[in-house]
Amino acid sequence: MSALVTHALVKRFGGVLATDHVSLTVEPGELHAIIGPNGAGKSTLIGQLAGEIASDEGSVRVLGVDVSRMPTHQRAQLGLARTYQVTQLAKEFTALDNVLLAVNARAAHNFRFWGNAHDDDAAMQKAATALAIVGMSHLHHAEVGTLAHGEQRQLEIAMALATEPKLLLLDEPLAGMSQGESAAIISLLKSLKGRYPILLVEHDMEAVFALADRVSVLVYGRIIATDTPDRIRENAEVRAAYLGDEA
Ligand code: ADP
Ligand code: MG
Repeated sequence: MSALVTHALVKRFGGVLATDHVSLTVEPGELHAIIGPNGAGKSTLIGQLAGEIASDEGSVRVLGVDVSRMPTHQRAQLGLARTYQVTQLAKEFTALDNVLLAVNARAAHNFRFWGNAHDDDAAMQKAATALAIVGMSHLHHAEVGTLAHGEQRQLEIAMALATEPKLLLLDEPLAGMSQGESAAIISLLKSLKGRYPILLVEHDMEAVFALADRVSVLVYGRIIATDTPDRIRENAEVRAAYLGDEA
């Protein structure tokens, strides 16, 4: 069963067709990347999948469940986790507290019911595991505002992982990073690849071509091609629409 299936998704902002009948799938263990110029509709699409932006038309299925009309928190309960293009961290809290917040948000029902030390231990365990996966075990007690930008992006990925997701949506995890910071995130994404189905929106083409199983190219809200990285590189329409003006 596919982790994600969208069928003819549409979003209009006034006269702008931000998402133009987008149909795509993410298969189990697949890293499917979406590239496209600024304003192509990448973040809008992620928002529609997460349920933050209501779609005008079309459907979204996560692990076979039709989530098209589901609110954000129900999609999260199903295992859909996302990160943001612009960090959404509680800067005055520690790294560990941010991850615990993410765990508790997902487990909100249990916590209201069983709000005791036992569950705190379980949450702590999930948070510590997630921080270890992103290589931030030594930074549990660091105040987030004092972390480097790259560390903050890693922390956001830890927050997504701590919810034990069944599908990860990553919106430009390399945005605004130095080369060294990018390299760290790229190797982190490599380590996650295959362990989770991932839809990766990214502007950095070299990273996308190195990481993705399949790439979809979004231009003016429309997917103009979906293929392996090698074939995308050679695709004439893609080169004309997108790769050409990057070269
Ligand atoms: P990308 O993430 O690929 O850069 P976006 O999804 O942010 O693109 O934007 C796609 C298009 O939708 C752009 O033309 C943008 O101006 C427009 N847009 C995005 N969000 C809104 C909004 N809340 N209201 C009006 N227009 C929007
Ligand atoms: Mg965007």
